[in-house]
Amino acid sequence: MAVEEETLRLASGLRIVIAEQTDAYERRLVRQWARAWDALYATWSDAMMDLASAGIDGHWPSRWVVSRSRKAEQALAAALDSLTEIVSTSEVEMFDAVGKIVQLTPEHQVRIIASQVPQIPEAQALLSISFDRVDQTALDAIVERTTKQITAVTRPLPAMVQAQMREVLVSGVAVGDNPRKAARIMVRRAEGAFNGGLTRALTIARTEMLDAYRSSAAATEWAHEELVGGWKWLATLDSRTCPSCWGMNGTEHNLQETGPDDHQCGRCARITVVRPWSELGFPDIEEPASIFPDAQAEFAALSRDEQLAIMGPTRLQALDDGLIGWGDLSTRRSTAGWRDSWAPTPVGRLLASRG
Ligand SMILES: [Zn+2]
Repeated sequence: MAVEEETLRLASGLRIVIAEQTDAYERRLVRQWARAWDALYATWSDAMMDLASAGIDGHWPSRWVVSRSRKAEQALAAALDSLTEIVSTSEVEMFDAVGKIVQLTPEHQVRIIASQVPQIPEAQALLSISFDRVDQTALDAIVERTTKQITAVTRPLPAMVQAQMREVLVSGVAVGDNPRKAARIMVRRAEGAFNGGLTRALTIARTEMLDAYRSSAAATEWAHEELVGGWKWLATLDSRTCPSCWGMNGTEHNLQETGPDDHQCGRCARITVVRPWSELGFPDIEEPASIFPDAQAEFAALSRDEQLAIMGPTRLQALDDGLIGWGDLSTRRSTAGWRDSWAPTPVGRLLASRG
């Protein structure tokens, strides 16, 4: 049961290892996307100038005229090509990042387990906490599931982005007497649609990679079933963390439960909790008290501005007034095509339920 300083230190070390993988993947994707837009820019500028000049009486050309524009069609085709190229090259990098996350996690997770047992050679020998116990087939299955999930959502992205760019083209902009200015606005809007695809790709990859870490951590626990009592939800308690994660921090879960089922892009960690030493066969060694970051105490110690930034004014006031409790901050929600997740309870619902 003794989650100690060392346990939390190792957990934040693992968090850094995972972040290195997700961040590096994201940086590459952002770079590829930016480079692709740079390469498309001239084609799009030219096509938009063409359309803006084809307008009549200061109006953007009709849907029919737009759909007949050869330059516009070429610009759209070029966007699709370059996105298809990015998505296919990034798949290789994504496989690589997911593989590393899934493989590195158990190495760290076994140290997290080992930090919670009596620090004597007999205990370490008797309990045989080891990476070797983790089932490689289970890890491979996590990699396979994760990469499948990411590709399933990412592969249709180029066509979706192209459709959105086409929508931008058709809706147009008031041209007035300055086609050059109108063309510039349209290029910017097209760029916005193009980058919308990037935002989506980043969200998917980050979310699934973090889930792969959590699954790999769970697989390590399951391989040490006789030692592990369950796990605790650890949130990064800072001003970027949402009310739901502040609320879930420290909650206890049984071993078989997957998770933490954080919302998209959530950064929460699964902290293995080892059984009491008496149950491990060391009833005579006095076990230190377990420590765990106390979200409510840490929140209380923040400045008013930081508290406001996390909770927003209404939620914070309701907490202060005792209208809602810490446990009300989080709500389980279902998302089509994805797992259930814990997200902030909307303010309206929070207050309505307290009538
Ligand atoms: Zn959150």
